[in-house]
Amino acid sequence: MSQSLFLLPGDGIGVEVMGEVKKLVAWLNAQQKADFSTDTGLVGGSAYDKHGVAISDDDMKKAMAADAVIFGAVGGPKWDKVPYEVRPEAGLLRLRKDLQLFANLRPAICYPALADASSLKREIVEGLDILIVRELTGGVYFGEPKTITDLGNGQKRAIDTQVYETYEIDRIVRVAFDLARTRNKKVHSADKKNVMKSGVLWDEVAHAVAKDYADVKFEHILADNAAMQLVRNPKQFDVMVTDNLFGDVLSDAAAMLTGSLGMLPSASLGAPDKATGKRKALYEPVHGSAPDIAGKGIANPIAMLASFAMALRYSFGMIELANKLEASIAAVLDEGLRTGDIAQGGKSIGTEEMGAAILKKLAA
Ligand code: NAD
Repeated sequence: MSQSLFLLPGDGIGVEVMGEVKKLVAWLNAQQKADFSTDTGLVGGSAYDKHGVAISDDDMKKAMAADAVIFGAVGGPKWDKVPYEVRPEAGLLRLRKDLQLFANLRPAICYPALADASSLKREIVEGLDILIVRELTGGVYFGEPKTITDLGNGQKRAIDTQVYETYEIDRIVRVAFDLARTRNKKVHSADKKNVMKSGVLWDEVAHAVAKDYADVKFEHILADNAAMQLVRNPKQFDVMVTDNLFGDVLSDAAAMLTGSLGMLPSASLGAPDKATGKRKALYEPVHGSAPDIAGKGIANPIAMLASFAMALRYSFGMIELANKLEASIAAVLDEGLRTGDIAQGGKSIGTEEMGAAILKKLAA
């Protein structure tokens, strides 16, 4: 039975890097290595231009029905002044909300060929492979009350509310443990239980979940220490699970250990469907639409292709193919091929050449 992909290229370089995914999918189908059916929709500024919203109801329905959503990037100066509710990012937020994508997976992998592009020393980052699992739909970004009150004496009071319930912590920590089982079997749970009640509950639930995974090593770490350890000795980590706020900060810090934005994939997963066991899922590069280079054909497609490798692994169980795709990316980097963002002033190739080189490696 064919498996359905809903492609949302979005704006700017989103469209360019998605072009390389389309070629890869066509090749996989032609070689009978997979049987994907694809449909393409509009999101972000391109959806606004056509429908006046950041994603149409019709495209939302298709996203809900698909086995996986593959997302490019949204935004650009053209849409900076559109009404807030229909700004390009609103399309991504609606997808995350309606698909209930509570688990954000942010790998930080340092390819040996690019170790010198990191701001840290080669020996600290070379061969790094960690996965940050961030809670994406709860916590302080969404908790109520969320207000700014005028106190009338020239002062204002701003309130954000950090709130987590047991089930929210339980399900995200389980995602982290399940993933650790497919990797190096180690989970760190980061919170601030020393000063936050939500941290106390987070840790209590994480310890309870850990009992169900005796084969996985479990450690608690304070989130501030996690930040320090990430830049001191990042290779001590395998999977790190944390809440929405800490995850936002820690995943960006971890990501930058590895060099360019153009290299960073991500996945966002929902709960398994009760009938089919399949999780709703969206895969996207971490980067935005890069208006400064859009239309020039020089964007790095690796973050997008590595996001697709995550789709192969997490939505379709095609582990071997995912490994091969990732190995093909590493191989072209080993051979010295670089897009402008990772060329460090040296010779560079364009989006299509990089995509073609990776596909050629895969075919070999
Ligand atoms: P950006 O990620 O688009 O670009 C930041 C810098 O990194 C730019 O210099 C860009 O050229 C470079 N870069 C990014 N991806 C690259 C790639 N694949 N290859 C080569 N170079 C790459 O962030 P920004 O400039 O802050 O934002 C631009 C637009 O994207 C804004 O409208 C912003 O709101 C939007 N944005 C969207 C997302 C998303 O769709 N998930 C994420 C971040 C920003």
